[in-house]
Amino acid sequence: MAAPVEVDGLTLDAETVALDRAHVFHSWSAQARVAPLVVAGGSGSTVWDHAGHTYLDFSSQLVNTNIGHQHPRVVEAIREQAGLLATIAPATANLTRGRAAAAILGHAPDRLTKVFFTNAGADAVENAIRLARLHTGRDKVVSHYRSYHGNTGAAVVATGDWRRVPNEYARGHVHVFGPYLYRSEFWATALEEECERALRHLERIVQCEGPDSVAAILLETVPGTAGVLVPPPGYLAGVREIADRYGIVLILDEVMAGFGRTGEWFAFDAHDVVPDLVTFAKGVNSGYVPAGGVLISSQIAATFDERVFPGGLTYSGHPLAMAAIVAAIGAMEDEGIVENAAAVGRDVLGPGLAELAERQSLVGEVRGTGVFWAVELVADRATREPVAPAVMGAVRAACLARGLLPFVADNRVHVVPPCVVTPDEAREGLALLDEALTEVTTDL
Ligand code: PMP
Repeated sequence: MAAPVEVDGLTLDAETVALDRAHVFHSWSAQARVAPLVVAGGSGSTVWDHAGHTYLDFSSQLVNTNIGHQHPRVVEAIREQAGLLATIAPATANLTRGRAAAAILGHAPDRLTKVFFTNAGADAVENAIRLARLHTGRDKVVSHYRSYHGNTGAAVVATGDWRRVPNEYARGHVHVFGPYLYRSEFWATALEEECERALRHLERIVQCEGPDSVAAILLETVPGTAGVLVPPPGYLAGVREIADRYGIVLILDEVMAGFGRTGEWFAFDAHDVVPDLVTFAKGVNSGYVPAGGVLISSQIAATFDERVFPGGLTYSGHPLAMAAIVAAIGAMEDEGIVENAAAVGRDVLGPGLAELAERQSLVGEVRGTGVFWAVELVADRATREPVAPAVMGAVRAACLARGLLPFVADNRVHVVPPCVVTPDEAREGLALLDEALTEVTTDL
């Protein structure tokens, strides 16, 4: 190991930092201002750097290591598959791929019968949109402001945050506001009112756009990057009704929310709704080998029985990714990992964060479910004005200094540990966050 170096108060491995700065171009960053955290290894809910500093991983990296780091069953399955067959063309039949598809569909509603495998979440969204357009013969896609669907052609245009860029090749995208009572766009003061008005708004936009032109309503079941905006009871069922009324395909994006994150296999399981298409990635194999895909209803799949589906990817259903899916889902089933996420959310994170919100004046709202929580920080509880970016930087630094790795977005700390997090680790993480908030509040 090269000599350690001080960056932003953290002692980091000099060689890692030098190589990173010289040659790695980072996502979503001004390159000169990237402050990398060195991660050299991990196990379960913990990661560490070369110098032996450990961090409780309350980010799950990018909200994807649902089974935690280095789960031995998944690592071994990848190793075994690599020894047997390390790559394969998409238009071939392979037992591991078939088993992966069956394992996923085993947790999905009966109406979803096929899986199209992609490399990640964004291309899952691209292909879901394409399936919906070809199936309906329509063009437009309605999605939420305050959403994230990926950083490729149509997915980034469907996205409703600052990453959305004009893309001349992505046409027909329309945005609506979803329910978010804390910052209601509908002047609502109660959840039912927010839900009802958001549904009315959505339906009016569909009517004004011309229902015959709308191919799909594309929503994250629980908008994640936008702030863990758990939809109120009845919202998604109401969206389903609108979609049915106008013959529109309902795509639920479960890339972040799926595979245990909410304490359910799929987040929509808690919302009495069955979508036509489901996009997934991340938690399906915890990102051990990149993989994503689209679950397809039998009705939409039948559109392509005789007609050629013009989409495809060289690595669709890559054997290493498929082996990781089979092992990850097997581990989740055998070890009760989804149940653990639900219990930790119900017994530790939910009550612990509610208590933290009472004590910490910076906290405006906490919301979430399972191991999927957001703590929204405000400069003023009455006006709900978000804290300045510098405050978020200070909160992140105060967490890291205590050995807690949080996921920070806008004015929020997302508390998103792996689904395997133990109650004790969850309590420890909350205590560290509490201390960090106290330090920042004192310094303000
Ligand atoms: N959809 C959602 C809901 C996501 O959270 C993400 C990634 N954060 C994506 C799509 C894109 O996935 P990927 O980064 O794997 O392309």
